[in-house]
Amino acid sequence: MAHTVNAARCNKCGQLSYPTHYYCSKCNATEFSPIPISGEGTLLTFTRAYALSLDYEQLYVTFGIVQMDQGVRATGQLDIQEPVLGMRVRATVGPVRDIGGRDVFGLRFVSVFPDAAAVESDQPALSASPSAS
Ligand SMILES: [Zn+2]
Repeated sequence: MAHTVNAARCNKCGQLSYPTHYYCSKCNATEFSPIPISGEGTLLTFTRAYALSLDYEQLYVTFGIVQMDQGVRATGQLDIQEPVLGMRVRATVGPVRDIGGRDVFGLRFVSVFPDAAAVESDQPALSASPSAS
């Protein structure tokens, strides 16, 4: 079964909200349709949490806030070793936590250009020897 994380689209004016609210922030309507959060966005900020509860198996978790191109801001885990503010990321949905042996699914962001840092480090180093001319 495919998991999704949904924003809410107002049935009256089309405004997207995430997390969902009881009233539309734009027109006060109260009926919404679920819209999966997907696609790409821009990383606005992030933080790393090291003091995790015992049901986390990793040393730390990186959380980011992403301005999605579809118009909502979404919070999720970053599967990015060296996050950079303003970088392009893509939303995926995957397990974010294991509670009592049961996976809890949520947003996980990956880099749109995962090899960008590697490409940069593959550039030939400038020669240290002075030119003979
Ligand atoms: Zn509305």
